Amino acid sequence: MKKKKLADSFSKKIKAYALKNALEHEGKARIESVLNALFHEGLKKEQIKSVLPKIKKTVEEINSLDIEKQKQLFKEFEREISRRKERTGLPELPEAEKGVITRFAPSPSGPLHIGHVATGMPSSLYVKKYGGKFYIRIEDTNPKNIAPEAYEMIEKEAKWVFGNVHAIIVQSDRLEHYYRYAEELIKKGFAYICTCEAEKFRELKKSKKECPCRNLPVTEQMDRWKKMLHDYKEGEAVLRFKSSMQLENPSLRDFPLARIIEKEHPRQGKKYRVWPLMSFSVAVDDIEYGITHVIRAKEHRDSAKRQEMIYKALGKKFPYTFFLGRYKFKDLEISCTKIRKLIQERKFSGWDDIRLPFLASLEKRGYQPEAFEKMAEVRGLSEVDKVISKEDYFELLDNFNREILKEKALPIETSETQKQGFEEVRILMPDATEKRIYAKIQNIKDNDIVYFKGLGYAKLNKDIFWFCHR
Ligand SMILES: [Zn+2]
Repeated sequence: MKKKKLADSFSKKIKAYALKNALEHEGKARIESVLNALFHEGLKKEQIKSVLPKIKKTVEEINSLDIEKQKQLFKEFEREISRRKERTGLPELPEAEKGVITRFAPSPSGPLHIGHVATGMPSSLYVKKYGGKFYIRIEDTNPKNIAPEAYEMIEKEAKWVFGNVHAIIVQSDRLEHYYRYAEELIKKGFAYICTCEAEKFRELKKSKKECPCRNLPVTEQMDRWKKMLHDYKEGEAVLRFKSSMQLENPSLRDFPLARIIEKEHPRQGKKYRVWPLMSFSVAVDDIEYGITHVIRAKEHRDSAKRQEMIYKALGKKFPYTFFLGRYKFKDLEISCTKIRKLIQERKFSGWDDIRLPFLASLEKRGYQPEAFEKMAEVRGLSEVDKVISKEDYFELLDNFNREILKEKALPIETSETQKQGFEEVRILMPDATEKRIYAKIQNIKDNDIVYFKGLGYAKLNKDIFWFCHR
């Protein structure tokens, strides 16, 4: 099909999805969301190039309309939205022919769990598909929310589960870069040091008024910046981005880029006291590492808007950004902060307690990275949160894992009673109880995965088998 013809054949759908997306997000549609929707309508990889300009133009047009007008128009185009079952799988990415550079950026409040893997896997898979680089970036610029053991665990488990980690970046090792960008923004008039009391600034923000610090000359701002690095106390000064105090969304009005935290950093000690906020450090690193496509949790939507403003101020092209919904578990706790507390209280033996959904435990039980890849492929780039029970989640995961283990695991005869040639083995069950059976095991080494006939799969970890699933 000719370029023009193809774009025309999709043009009504483009309009329909752009309107739908705009109405779902305060009147602002995004190119990436429309592309994703078209993929589910059957758009092919080789067609992206020809429809992309049309999408860009349509999104621009629709975003310039007010919401009432968008609602009206949507009624006209709504029927273009398919009711048929969506195609599953990861959609093709725009401008990916020469490879993509992606990243997954956990904070070290704990090691990786199944929620992290779901968010990070698409970025890893796209690099496997198109070529390029996949970075892990540990976002540790808040000294108050760090589990020191997480650094090493994240590195080890990310390398295991993703298999294609190009490099590990640790943000707290990069403070000088953030400072350099901070100075650039100040010098260009895009940032200022605000010494207003937090309460007072909140009031100003609410009433869309500018604070007195905002329009001080650049030389004064640079002086204040030096004071921020050395003299001001915690809470006395904040580096702010000069967006606008008139913006509709209050979280975008002259948002903070960096603040002073005196607390000792677990990795850097007392070396630094000015710490960037996520919107800022993420923008700097994405620029410096040439990230081309970002796939991240949808709760970062506002943060992405702030980053886009920073990119614009610095004259850089913003990466294509896709947002993911999360798994919301009905009956499974995955918050690192909460679990850390339970470990401290000895309710769990550690991050690798067999009852926990952390990779430290799942790897020991015999779960395979490919099973997590399959899970991510099924989920695609859906922005919808998936409410799921622990049982249903693991039924899906176990099915994929079983397919892989069928080829790998060694089948083993078992018996409830002692028989010749059988020896007693200990199996750690998923509820943390120990089961003893007799089995005919020979030449089994640490880390081997076996299939105990009549019981299920398990992996040997120093004298005890960690049960995986039936
Ligand atoms: Zn101020």
